[in-house]
Parts: sequence; structure tokens; C-alpha cells
Amino acid sequence: MVKPEVKRTVSEPHSWKRRWARERLDDPALVDGLSEDYKVFLDRCRTERECATYIAQALHDSGFIDLAEKDPPPPAPGQGFYLVNRGSEIAFGRVGRSPLTSGTNLVAFHMDSPRLDLKPIPLDGDVDTGLGLVRTHYYGGIKKYHWVNIPLTLRGTIEREDGRTIDVGPDGWTLIIPDLEPHLSHKVQDHRKLPEGITGEELVALGALGRGDEDCERQPVVLDMLRALNDRYGTTEEDLICSDLCLVPQYPPRDVGLERGMIGAYGQDDRVSAYSAMRAMLGSSDPERWALSIGFDKEEIGSEGATGARSFFLESFYYKLIEWTGSRGMRRDLNSVLSRTFCISSDVKAAVDPVFKGVHDIQNAARSGSGITITKYTGSGGKSDANDASAEMVFKLRSHLNSLKIAWQMQETGKVDEGGGGTVARFLSSRNMDVIDVGIPVFSMHSKFEVISKADLYMAFKAFSGFFTAFRP
Ligand code: MN
Ligand code: MN
Repeated sequence: MVKPEVKRTVSEPHSWKRRWARERLDDPALVDGLSEDYKVFLDRCRTERECATYIAQALHDSGFIDLAEKDPPPPAPGQGFYLVNRGSEIAFGRVGRSPLTSGTNLVAFHMDSPRLDLKPIPLDGDVDTGLGLVRTHYYGGIKKYHWVNIPLTLRGTIEREDGRTIDVGPDGWTLIIPDLEPHLSHKVQDHRKLPEGITGEELVALGALGRGDEDCERQPVVLDMLRALNDRYGTTEEDLICSDLCLVPQYPPRDVGLERGMIGAYGQDDRVSAYSAMRAMLGSSDPERWALSIGFDKEEIGSEGATGARSFFLESFYYKLIEWTGSRGMRRDLNSVLSRTFCISSDVKAAVDPVFKGVHDIQNAARSGSGITITKYTGSGGKSDANDASAEMVFKLRSHLNSLKIAWQMQETGKVDEGGGGTVARFLSSRNMDVIDVGIPVFSMHSKFEVISKADLYMAFKAFSGFFTAFRP
């Protein structure tokens, strides 16, 4: 006979309840302090390179060792370290008290955001108007019509002929992509479907006014633009061919809402995770297991390339740590540490927009202000391309978040056949780690001005802090 299971008493809660993050704040002043610091970070970090540089500098200033330097001092518990890959990817962490081969607690995120890259030969002149033009090729999944009529700023790097790498921006220049006025758009534009309201080739910024004393040819106005760049950066048109230049929104981050409970800014996908992980790592003094974090580039275009999540840089970084601990059994140790690593793959998630609720299954959707999301699986259309976290992984994360009294909620991106999306989690789990997605709900994802809740930011920071310091899988 099967023994009847012991019933839980009725006083115990049987139903799960989503909470407000604000109810779970220890001290509202901490949220304000974090939010102000976060806005400074966002204002400075408009590209993945600027983000990697900022994080490396912050870590360096707090005594973290650059592992690219020759003969770093031997690892000691609590010691911080970092490694930058090609200027646009960064891995960092702190030495744990337990051996590296017993596994690491890893938070992964990406630092690139959708934007308008400049074409290889971007400067052009319009014969009829004499205007100087800057031609672009968008990067990542944007709604192109968002990017017109807003102040844009030039950012990136140029390799100059003398071999110097020139960092471009902030330089005070404002560029704009004008849209057609409603008075004239009736025939050529108004019948278009929304995604084609502005097409890729129409994302052309105004770079300079034509000069009245010249014929409207390409050269004079292009020369004007080249001269301006040369005065500021000492570059030539051929140097521009060797550049990573982009246009990004120029306005600074702002508080949003009458009660100022939200933050609006460009690039919060996924610099909100970057910031939370960086701040949490800086504040985690003596972790039990090795605490690691990695910020990828190229997530928005499929995690390709040497700085994307599919790259061997992740293994190189782990090999570097194994070598640093004095071990010689490199491959065996790599297998050991990866298979015992628990990874939180952090990325923003779509917050339910009250006007377009219909795309979500509300009880499995992210509510802004209700804390971080646990996303058991990503992907779309039958979980295609998903990282599908196991019951055990969800259990471990849920226990961790509950122990810290963190507001959390379950999330999937849209109704079953509505759409979906994924991030770096699946590329990490292919390394034989436990990987689970978490996120911060965001309004207007991939737009020029994304919005999150300050309390949710604080919950992410607190979750990562506890994860780095004391999480045991
Ligand atoms: Mn993202
Ligand atoms: Mn994205």
C-alpha cells in the first residue's frame, strides 16, 4: 500500500503570488543612489567599447588585476581580476575560497545595443540640395521609423594612418535623420506598412548644409565634413574606411514618471545587466565559489565573431584562470570547471505594455516593477532555439532569490505563437554549464529610449550580489 503523502498545513501558502519590488526594498535611499550612478554609467557607455572601457576602469580603480599583464600576482581569495578582448568584450571576477575546479558562479550579459552603423564610405553629397549626407546601415533589430527626427550623436573609433586609434565622441555634434512631413507623405509614404515607414537606405543623416558659393556637387560639402572631422580628430576619408562608427541617440538618461520611479535611456538592453553585474562584483568582497561575469559583444546580430558569445574567448578566459591557479591539467580542468558552473544569463525582457497586452499571456509575462524575471525558456514557435532550463536549475535559482527576499516573476516572451526571441544563454549552455535566463522588464525594447523600473534595477543588483558571494548550486 502506498503511504499517503503528508499534506502541507492550510496556513502555508499554496498559491504563488507576484509581488511588487517596492515592497521588498530594504532602504529606498539605496535605490536612489544606485539609480543616479546607473544614469551616469548609461550616459558614458553608448557603445560596447565604451562599456568595456568603463567597466575595466572601474574594476582597475578598485584593485582588480588585469590578467593580460605579464606575471600577475598569485590568486588569493577575494582578489579581483579582469580580461578585455579586442576592446569590446570583458570578463571579470573574484577568486573564491573553494578551488576553481569546483565550479564558478557566472553572470553573463551583452554590451552591444541596436544602433545605426556608418557605411564603409559614409559621407556623400546630394547634387540637388547641396546637402552633406551620412549614410548608415542599421545594426540589430530596430523599428527603423523610430530613428528619424531625434538628435543623434557620433560614437566609435577610427584607425588613423599614423597607427593611432582615435576614440570618437562625445563631441557635441548633433546629427538628425529627417522624416517627410505629413503634408507631402500621402503618396510616397503613407500607404507603406509600419516596418517600411522608413527603409534601411532611407536612414540617411544630415551632415552639413551646402555652400551657396559652390555648384551643388558632391565634393565641396563632403570636403566640408571631412575638414570638420580632420579638425577634431586628424582623420582623412581613407581613415574612415578603417573605423567602427555609429550614430546613437544623444539625449541623456532621465527619470520617468510623475513619481520618478522609472529610468528612460538609450541602450538599457543590455547595459542594465552590465551595470548590475559590475556593481555587484565590485561590492562582493569574499566569495565562497569563484565569482565571474562576462560581457559579450555582437549579441544583437547573432552572437557571431571573436567577441560574441559563440567565440572561444570564454574558454580562453577559463584556461587563463586555470593556468593562474598553477594547474597543468588544462583540458580536464576546463571540463571540470565548466560542468560545475552555474550561469545566470541576464538580459532585458519585454514588459507588458498596457496598450498591447494582447501579445502576452499575462500571467507568464513580465510586469515592470515586479522584480527580476526568471525565464525558464527563451526561443520562439515551439521553443525553437531555446535555452530550456531544467526543473533543478529553476529550483536552485528560486531558492536563492527567496533566501534574499528578492521580488521575482516568471516570464516568457509573448503568447505561444506570437513571436519570441533568445539571447546568449543557449551558446553558454552548449559549454555544458547550468544556464538560466533572468531579466529586467523593459518598455520599448530596441527603441531609442528604453524604460525600466528603478526598483527592478535594485532587485537585479541584489540578486547578483548574493549570487556572487554565497550561491551554492
Ligand atoms: Mn538583449
Ligand atoms: Mn536586444
